[in-house]
Amino acid sequence: MPELPEVETTRRGIAPHIVGRRVTGVVLRRPDLRWPIPPEISTLLPGQVIEAVERRAKYLLMPTAAGTALLHLGMSGMLRVLPETTPIGKHDHVDIAFDTGNVLRFTDPRRFGALLWQMPGETHELLEGIGPEPLTDDFDGDVLWRLSRGRSAAVKTFLMDNAVVVGVGNIYASEALFAAGIDPRRAAGKVSRERYARLAAEVKRILAYAIDRGGTTLRDFLAPDGAPGYFFQELFVYGRAGDACKICGHPVRVVTLGQRASFYCATCQK
Ligand SMILES: [Zn+2]
Repeated sequence: MPELPEVETTRRGIAPHIVGRRVTGVVLRRPDLRWPIPPEISTLLPGQVIEAVERRAKYLLMPTAAGTALLHLGMSGMLRVLPETTPIGKHDHVDIAFDTGNVLRFTDPRRFGALLWQMPGETHELLEGIGPEPLTDDFDGDVLWRLSRGRSAAVKTFLMDNAVVVGVGNIYASEALFAAGIDPRRAAGKVSRERYARLAAEVKRILAYAIDRGGTTLRDFLAPDGAPGYFFQELFVYGRAGDACKICGHPVRVVTLGQRASFYCATCQK
């Protein structure tokens, strides 16, 4: 599933090709993805100039004078900028055509993605009440410490709560807790302020590193078979149950927390 670094990599990949460009048409090959595609995508978006490509949590926002298109990659979604003559594949559900002769093509085999619309001056309900961006100064150890007081939920479940901080998915929560030496099962309210400072720093470091790595595959966005780069080679615990911990050699364990498989080292994480 695309996590925050893949979405940010996608944002950086498509932005130079569509910002400042006029939409000449929209082709919807089905009426819905995860949710129905609102009529404004067909009625208001054509003719508009894309002012920016922004990201909030795992949503990509494309503001125009008439409103903002919101796009979510879901479980399997992919965005590519392609010449409009590129043959259409089975899962190519949406094309947004530009005055450059290129299309922004949304491909999504499992259709958990979303294409939505936000009117000027409004905030879409999916973006209301969500926490700070992890890579901004609005997120730090004090935020985690303050929000966690009195909370008995596992610290990993707490870290993955979008109301606390957005975009820290299962892989990055597991890896950041390992790097910070914190047992993911520990009650969020029992983690000290000092340890939350370390955890917030590790979240930022690991996400920034993954985004940097994704940046090396940006040229793929112009290839018909291109896919954003993923960050799977350098994991310490995620997906490694039973394998030796890369630090201490003891087997990595797995436990279910908040209905998610959670990987940790009982020796390195306390
Ligand atoms: Zn270990």
